[in-house]
Amino acid sequence: MIIVGGGPAGLTAGLYCARSRLSALLVERGMVGGQIVNAERVENYPGFPDGISGIELGQLIHRQASDHGLEILYADVTGAAPGERGHHVSTGEGDFTAEAIIIASGSLYRRLGVPGEDEFVGKGVSYCATCDGPLFRDRAVVVVGGGDAAITEALYLSKFASSVKVIHRRNELRAGRIVQERILAEPNIEIVWDTVVTGIEGEGAVGRVSLRNTKDARITMLEVGGVFVAIGSEPNSAVWRGILPMDEGGFIITDETMETKIPGVFAAGDVRHNSARQAITAAGDGATAAIAAERFLSSRGKRGI
Ligand code: NAP
Repeated sequence: MIIVGGGPAGLTAGLYCARSRLSALLVERGMVGGQIVNAERVENYPGFPDGISGIELGQLIHRQASDHGLEILYADVTGAAPGERGHHVSTGEGDFTAEAIIIASGSLYRRLGVPGEDEFVGKGVSYCATCDGPLFRDRAVVVVGGGDAAITEALYLSKFASSVKVIHRRNELRAGRIVQERILAEPNIEIVWDTVVTGIEGEGAVGRVSLRNTKDARITMLEVGGVFVAIGSEPNSAVWRGILPMDEGGFIITDETMETKIPGVFAAGDVRHNSARQAITAAGDGATAAIAAERFLSSRGKRGI
């Protein structure tokens, strides 16, 4: 069994596989833990009534899987060729053949694609408020987006920044009710409706953004010291393009057991179509996929090789 990705989905799948004494290898290209390591405080993962830092949660799941014998290879998956006689996976550290694969490669932050964005990454442009927020103490910042990530990031940044403006392209937030209520109660957060960022400028670091009102096309400049982009994410599924059915966003389509159209190939967590994109649902997906994969191997008489 090969598991691609070491976030909550992959690690949980690995934990289940290791405990089932399946021969499993988890391949991770960066740091294990997944995107949850960027969360300052996770308050909605059951079992931690006082909350837990994302890094600590990632480390605990990693340790649990490793203690049960999960083997981890640090390498990039560069190619895949599923087949009747075994599924081939190429990595920077060699090629492997597995009887079953669980794809748990997650997703990456989406970029705005406006002038100045790439130039100022690390110089005022950030995709992670919990990582970089404290660097913006007493500065005016904008957060772009209207989903849960944008609003949660704005709330976090309001602890450091002198002011936070949320730039949202519509006149209604996508974020859940609880965070919406919290943001409206914060005096130093303002929502700028019907507006998009069209450019990021500055001398050596972010100094201002140009904004366009989507209703009347009016352009304004806003002086800021930081731009936090929180407009969703793209799946890490390029390797499987043309091989597995995906939705229009590139998220892999599975059935309720996490199995894709190809028998023995499963997808779990944020890379999957219709994922709720929560650490807990990713972990649940990983467990479901591992159980289904074990049943698949048993049915083919391949269990434990
Ligand atoms: P999301 O829910 O997809 O929201 C993305 C936001 O960015 C939307 O408001 C969208 O606008 C906007 N957007 C997308 N592309 C844009 C562009 N090119 N220019 C300007 N704005 C753009 O993504 P997310 O906030 O990252 O959340 C992803 C998932 O994780 C969700 O299921 C969310 O509930 C979950 N999450 C939960 C928490 C939590 O604390 N429980 C925290 C973070 C994330 P429109 O609304 O107009 O489409």
